Amino acid sequence: MSRVYNFSAGPAVLPDEVLRTAQSELLEYGNSGMSVMEMSHRSKDFEDILDEAEKNLRTLMNIPDNYKVLFLQGGGFTQFAMIPMNLMINRSAGYIVTGQWSKKAAGEAKIFGTVHELASSADKNFSYIPELGDLNIPEDLDYVYICQNETVHGTTIKTLPNTKGKTLVSDISSMFLSEPLDVTKYGLLFGGVQKNVGPAGVVIVIVREDLIRDDVLPFTPTMMKYKTHADNKSLFNTPPCYGIYICGLVFKWLLKLGGVNAIHKINQAKAKLLYDYLDSSKLFHGTVEKKDRSLMNVPFVTGSRELDAEFVNAATQAGLKNIKGHRSVGGMRASLYNAMPVEGVAKLVDFMAEFEKAHIS
Ligand SMILES: *Cc1c(COP(=O)(O)O)cnc(C)c1O
Repeated sequence: MSRVYNFSAGPAVLPDEVLRTAQSELLEYGNSGMSVMEMSHRSKDFEDILDEAEKNLRTLMNIPDNYKVLFLQGGGFTQFAMIPMNLMINRSAGYIVTGQWSKKAAGEAKIFGTVHELASSADKNFSYIPELGDLNIPEDLDYVYICQNETVHGTTIKTLPNTKGKTLVSDISSMFLSEPLDVTKYGLLFGGVQKNVGPAGVVIVIVREDLIRDDVLPFTPTMMKYKTHADNKSLFNTPPCYGIYICGLVFKWLLKLGGVNAIHKINQAKAKLLYDYLDSSKLFHGTVEKKDRSLMNVPFVTGSRELDAEFVNAATQAGLKNIKGHRSVGGMRASLYNAMPVEGVAKLVDFMAEFEKAHIS
């Protein structure tokens, strides 16, 4: 067996330790005589798995009691519709468009009402975060929406927008549990777990109780109401049981490591390794304005498509996988999620330096 360094943007690397635990429990979980995959979601064993996962996530993120934690399906994309269906009561919402994911979310919201684009960085191919301190916020907005870490473009909103009292909704898919967040600043947070928390198939929604309502938009299906899932502790129908179990193992792994503050320090060190090299390199350079750089997704280019392709090939052969950039940005992208060890980033930087030496005289 040889595990590579996997820089994929998602589905992405998981901690070895978590996979080994899952392996050791694959045929029999505890004394249950069966795999978690084979259990009833109404069984005591599974209910304990779900309760413990929620409890540990609450501890990790310091989630107050007046927020519900929902383990749902349908990925991030389903949330792009569920959010307006449940929150767009005046049929009016503000979207801050900083990249592909916020743009897609805004596009989906237009099905349900008026979308006000409050700010955008489309003018420079989403390579920066616009000023968000004094936005023009229409009175009737139901919420202000951000994608806090744009996975494709590699930007992070580091200072939350001034929403002038409106509910803040944030897509944290690609920064979930990578750094401390103050949950009380948001009405709703959500993330597909396949970036930083677990396997594809689970999306976690953290929503303040007063936003969970019965009088959602007409024609909202039962499965698309937050209230359905909140009232049934994520067990209205069969939840993605095995995925939730793996998320639970990741939460335990993080707690053992020292929690979100501890992993944040490690993430800062990893990102610094790569960004420092990019800033000193004569061949490679980052594509994002320095102040807005993501800790998780690092896009970079050589300036030559041919050389980019050559680098991606060479890196792949050296066991540095999934480093090709998204087709809309080109070049390369290294995702440095929680489970990427420092050694992986160090190896990438060494490899880039060698490649640079060979290609610049
Ligand atoms: C991957 C991603 C999504 C979409 O997730 P799906 O689960 O594929 O629907 C949404 N937002 C962000 C920021 C992402 O990185």
